[in-house]
Amino acid sequence: MQPAAVPHTLVAQRWQQLWREAVRDPRELLALLGLEGAGLGISDEATAQFPLRVPRGFIARMRHGDPDDPLLRQVLPLDAEMQPMPGYSLDAVGDAAAKAGHGVIRKYRGRALLVTTGSCAIHCRYCFRRHFPYAEETAAAAGWREAVELIAGDSAIDEVILSGGDPWSLATPKLAELTDALAGIPHLKRLRVHTRLPVVLPERVDEALLAWLRALPWPVTVVLHANHANEFDAQVDEAVARLRSAGATLLNQAVLLRGVNDSVDALAALSERGLAAGVLPYYLHQLDRVQGSSHFEVSDETALRLHRELAARLSGYLVPRLVREVAGDPGKRPL
Ligand SMILES: *Cc1c(COP(=O)(O)O)cnc(C)c1O
Ligand code: SF4
Repeated sequence: MQPAAVPHTLVAQRWQQLWREAVRDPRELLALLGLEGAGLGISDEATAQFPLRVPRGFIARMRHGDPDDPLLRQVLPLDAEMQPMPGYSLDAVGDAAAKAGHGVIRKYRGRALLVTTGSCAIHCRYCFRRHFPYAEETAAAAGWREAVELIAGDSAIDEVILSGGDPWSLATPKLAELTDALAGIPHLKRLRVHTRLPVVLPERVDEALLAWLRALPWPVTVVLHANHANEFDAQVDEAVARLRSAGATLLNQAVLLRGVNDSVDALAALSERGLAAGVLPYYLHQLDRVQGSSHFEVSDETALRLHRELAARLSGYLVPRLVREVAGDPGKRPL
């Protein structure tokens, strides 16, 4: 006799298990890296404000015993985050003002950005979302209905961008619920996904996700987020290859971060390593001035110099556009 079939939504997928096993205690993270006594200025207050979260597979790519590791710097909650800085705000990019409906942000012509979820597999300390009440503001929370109606009612929108949080932190059937509803909208021509999951938890790119991707009725662009060449490993390469074989175009956006990638060598290595995996650079973002992130800031002068040197070193298609997001602008502003 066959065992009764279990609906697959009730069985935790492997990636969901790995997600739950992420490290959330800064002391455990430091112990795993042999940095227990390193006196790095870990802040309990910063951890309480925006908890540490980092998948174990990502930790495995950090250098053991190196307090300056570029991957570690991105996730470590430090005392420096709690020093108030003039000019650094809670909503640095004007998301509150650009809200068009529950979880829908409408800033640029033709594009609607959906805040699908507030969850991420990793918590990046420089993230402008650390203060935004995304948990209550997601499109999913309103059952997608309001977001879908808003997009259906505006024929000027031809591209939907799934963002968050990380849209691929949603279970695949939940994503299919949304795209099934969007598929009925005749003026939609493109779908884009902004996700860091294939980089930080490549196991997310499983058969179910690929089947969902292959069935979508639009050309799909997946914009990854990796800031350093060391974020790529064999598993990330494989995840990217699978996404490409499912028909997606792969791009990468990075944030220029002091102590992480603020050198020509690091930026060139990121572009070259991305290309080796099958990803072209898209944007290099100047940091959004969000409270708690000022220790990552690189001056515009330095950013421009790095970008010029990068352009002098690499093939044109390996040079990302250096941009800043300015509230009220019609697009990302080139520096
Ligand atoms: C960045 C962003 C986009 C996408 O802009 P592109 O320049 O097309 O990548 C769309 N909507 C919002 C709200 C954004 O912040
Ligand atoms: S939204 Fe992106 S940058 Fe922000 S914490 Fe999540 S993964 Fe990191």
